[in-house]
Amino acid sequence: MCGACLSRRRLLAALAAAPLAACSENLDTGRNQLILVDDAQLAGLADQAWGDLAAKTPRLADPEAQARVARVGAGIAGATGRTDLDWGYEVFDAPDSNAFVLPNGKVAVFRGLLEAVRSDDELAAVMGHEAGHVVARHAAERVSQQLAIQAGVSLVQILLSDQAGESADAIAGALGMGALYGVILPYSRKHELEADALGLTLMEKAGHDPVAAVAFWERRIAESRGQGGVPEVLSTHPADATRLARLREAVAGG
Ligand SMILES: [Zn+2]
Repeated sequence: MCGACLSRRRLLAALAAAPLAACSENLDTGRNQLILVDDAQLAGLADQAWGDLAAKTPRLADPEAQARVARVGAGIAGATGRTDLDWGYEVFDAPDSNAFVLPNGKVAVFRGLLEAVRSDDELAAVMGHEAGHVVARHAAERVSQQLAIQAGVSLVQILLSDQAGESADAIAGALGMGALYGVILPYSRKHELEADALGLTLMEKAGHDPVAAVAFWERRIAESRGQGGVPEVLSTHPADATRLARLREAVAGG
């Protein structure tokens, strides 16, 4: 049997096993997505992951910083119109210059990121980008891709199985918690570009200056080049010249 046939059979098996197998159009991105997991399942998984994170990671003891992130975040959440999500924000006391979002609307910001942003507008650029991943259902898409690879195994089976450590890690990575669990699963370039575009719209709608997004990413890329390596900042969100060019275009054209 050829490899292609096998992988097709596997994909079909995954589709058959999925409780909700759908190729649906996302109105925010205008593109069709393979979604093998329903929103309730994903939200349940995200709630659990958020609880784990909160239990393991110290919260930053700085009420002003917490209030700032909550205020900027609430503006962005309002701009998404996704009132069905239970948006929430937490600043964790870790040096990582990073942030991530879970599909239930929970946004984690690390202390290092607050040290890296120079204004609320720059913070809004990062939070707008994160909210863009939620609006575009990137986690659902990534988890679905992982499920398709797992050949007909359902999400519940993966999570219940003691032997499915690697699969469970891959799902956690797909959820957006890769850095936490040591499974870095960077967003694809396509997802990054979508999140950037949505992020610009959201931050502007929330009253922030989108030019700040260009300034922030420009600085991060320059810094990572200076260090001669992969940017430590937002390592799960690979930044490159293409993203920067698109951001500049969008801001100039908008
Ligand atoms: Zn991203």
